[in-house]
Amino acid sequence: MIISHTIHLEMAHRLMNYPGKCARLHGHRYELTVEAHGPVNPSSGFVIDIADLKAYVRATIDTPFDHMTLLENIDPIARCLEANREEFKVPSMLQLGLFTTAWPPSVENIAIFFANRLEQGWPFPTCTLGRVILHETRDNVAVWVP
Ligand SMILES: [Zn+2]
Repeated sequence: MIISHTIHLEMAHRLMNYPGKCARLHGHRYELTVEAHGPVNPSSGFVIDIADLKAYVRATIDTPFDHMTLLENIDPIARCLEANREEFKVPSMLQLGLFTTAWPPSVENIAIFFANRLEQGWPFPTCTLGRVILHETRDNVAVWVP
């Protein structure tokens, strides 16, 4: 059986050296669906309590990444912000909303990154992480498959 939970998160990004609009700093309302695969427990009727899956997805992805800006760590915009950190009067760039990556923040790479985070702390021994489906727009989607 497959159960899933879906969240929406607002994130900004840009793709350096991309010959199109995605080279601009811009945002999306991402939609993330996380599947859990496992048998239905006959006494509860659940694979797992979906409220537990919801809480895990929120704590692992939504809380740290909603309203963040993902920029590659070699992006001059990220470097410019970091170089002027004292101007922003914040102890870390994370509090400013900047999350730098070692990879281009494409929808594919963000889906892989989220899947890895979800897999690392997966707290449900009776089921496994299934597909991680990340919509960047209504029409563009990346699907991580376990
Ligand atoms: Zn984009």
